Amino acid sequence: MLSYRAPLREIRFVLHEVLHASHHYAELGRKDLNEEFIDSVLEGAARFAEEVIAPTNEPGDRVGVRLTDDGVVTPPGFREAYAQFVGDGWAALCGPEEFGGQGLPEGFGGPVGELFVSANQSWKLYSGLTDSALLCLEKHASDELKALYLPKLVTGEWTGTMCLTEAQAGTDLGLLRSRAEPDGEGSYRITGEKIFITSGDHDVAANIVHLVLARLPDAPAGTRGISLFLVPKRLPDANGEPGAANGVRCSRLEEKLGIHGSATCVMNFENARGWLVGEPNAGLRSMFVMMNHARLWVGLQGLAQAERSRQAALDYARERRQGRAARGSAKPDKPADLIVDHADVRRMLLTQKAFIEASRLLTYFAGMQMDKAKYHPDAAERQRGADLLAILTPVVKAFVTDMAVEVTNLGIQVHGGYGYIRETGVEQFMRDARIACIYEGTNGVQALDLLGRKVLGSGGQLARLLGGLIGAFCQNHAGYEEMADFVPRLAGLLKEWSEATEQVAQRAARDPDEIGAAAADYLQFTGYLCLAWCWAKMAAVAIAALRNSPDDPAFYQAKVATARFFFARLLPRAEAHLDALQSGSASVMALSTGQLG
Ligand SMILES: Cc1cc2nc3c(=O)[nH]c(=O)nc-3n(C[C@H](O)[C@H](O)[C@H](O)COP(=O)(O)OP(=O)(O)OC[C@H]3O[C@@H](n4cnc5c(N)ncnc54)[C@H](O)[C@@H]3O)c2cc1C
Repeated sequence: MLSYRAPLREIRFVLHEVLHASHHYAELGRKDLNEEFIDSVLEGAARFAEEVIAPTNEPGDRVGVRLTDDGVVTPPGFREAYAQFVGDGWAALCGPEEFGGQGLPEGFGGPVGELFVSANQSWKLYSGLTDSALLCLEKHASDELKALYLPKLVTGEWTGTMCLTEAQAGTDLGLLRSRAEPDGEGSYRITGEKIFITSGDHDVAANIVHLVLARLPDAPAGTRGISLFLVPKRLPDANGEPGAANGVRCSRLEEKLGIHGSATCVMNFENARGWLVGEPNAGLRSMFVMMNHARLWVGLQGLAQAERSRQAALDYARERRQGRAARGSAKPDKPADLIVDHADVRRMLLTQKAFIEASRLLTYFAGMQMDKAKYHPDAAERQRGADLLAILTPVVKAFVTDMAVEVTNLGIQVHGGYGYIRETGVEQFMRDARIACIYEGTNGVQALDLLGRKVLGSGGQLARLLGGLIGAFCQNHAGYEEMADFVPRLAGLLKEWSEATEQVAQRAARDPDEIGAAAADYLQFTGYLCLAWCWAKMAAVAIAALRNSPDDPAFYQAKVATARFFFARLLPRAEAHLDALQSGSASVMALSTGQLG
């Protein structure tokens, strides 16, 4: 079985040396979240991930979930690991203190979540949507609903789901048909079928709280007629404990490419009792609180799977011997050299390393904006945090998850034929990573969100904010000779990005297909720009550290060398995306639907 080692040195570098996390938390009034505290939480999480969760990953994939007359049965070890997750307080880490949580900011949950997802993504999905549901209920539910449900959700005794998708309504939720009728008792009766519901049923927790989108009888058509309801699997009794069964059940489990340990359920609501959350017909708006959180969380899944794949590939490349190294053999007494000595294998390993480490910085940085938007004492800073989060969320969700598919694919390639064999275990990482490009809004939809809604929809303001941040970094580091390999190139790319943004906006004003045709390349271009910024930042920190003769010079030298690799070998891809997005919509739309065949 492949082992998992929590990359704590890497995480500490990002949190403490690059993002100055304790300073960030102090600004938010949380001086208690100092370096020592952060490290102690990370060390505990690492132990839990390595020793308790990771051993469930392979059996989870092999055995999968089962639907029985009593509901869904999770794979071996999942229940026990979940019980410990709740018992040790991990579930409550970022929950509001008012409802029994430990009150750590959600962004802090990112690094901890990375460790848990790397250990077993399917297992983590049983609690994954609970955090998003909590945020949504905290913001939109009545005090009565909060008092009844939040304490159990916060501790993890109960879990949450997100029930949006129906067979005819995926991306286009305006098409959904589930109905909600008032029952004269202050609640509603929900009827309809939802598909693809993650953790819709399971045996890891005593109750499940479904957040369901449905239509009231007089609701207008389309997205303006959708309301949000809380529908428990079991109705709480007078003591708030799970009581009578509600009219909701899982009628089928989906067979899938990956995440076999995660229950993806068809859920049937038959006259199920539910309670309105937020205003009637404003359900989609309420749900967006949940979706934005969930999208960052999905980006983190990409990062976590990529890291897991990289560890396996590196271990293998350091022990597998094939052929002779072009530079001459380091071990002529052995029959062959290690594959890690071949330039092409190094290219693959470095591609993994370069993508993962910069994506980690970008993802954690975005998570911190979530905290800033919520807790910063200064309203202008809160708004700035919210704006940065708004533009970065689709980039993290789509770029990092696409990256994960490439990185996990390379993980297979480094293993050669053994990578394709199930027994080796690395093909699971690619299968598990693939879903993250699809759920929580496909990556195509993220691209439309970035370009259409966030960039053009804000009149360019959000793009200027992100560009301003990168531009300020370039200005602050211009003239430093050691940064000459990075800063001029980054500044040049930023200029191209800003110009391309304006040009797309001009074309979009004339051409209705422009945004759709340009969006995917615009997102990729933005992703490469952000990762170049992240690598330049990490290189600057590493160069400064090397000047002070650190204990661990090899670590910092590797950072600078990997930044060089990223700029030399991966960043040129940005220009291809720039060319593509600048080419207009004509080549995409030229063929008739028939001619596509
Ligand atoms: C394993 C798994 C777990 C899931 N978990 C949940 C869950 O917990 N809760 C839940 O509610 N849903 C869940 N989903 C559903 C998931 O969110 C949807 O599958 C996803 O949003 C896409 O919807 P769709 O499958 O209907 O595809 P479609 O919407 O039919 O899209 C098909 C293709 O068309 C593109 N497309 C669609 N509309 C547009 C447009 N306007 N412009 C450009 N391109 C467009 C898409 O990008 C995609 O490439 C899950 C799905 C899976 C597979």
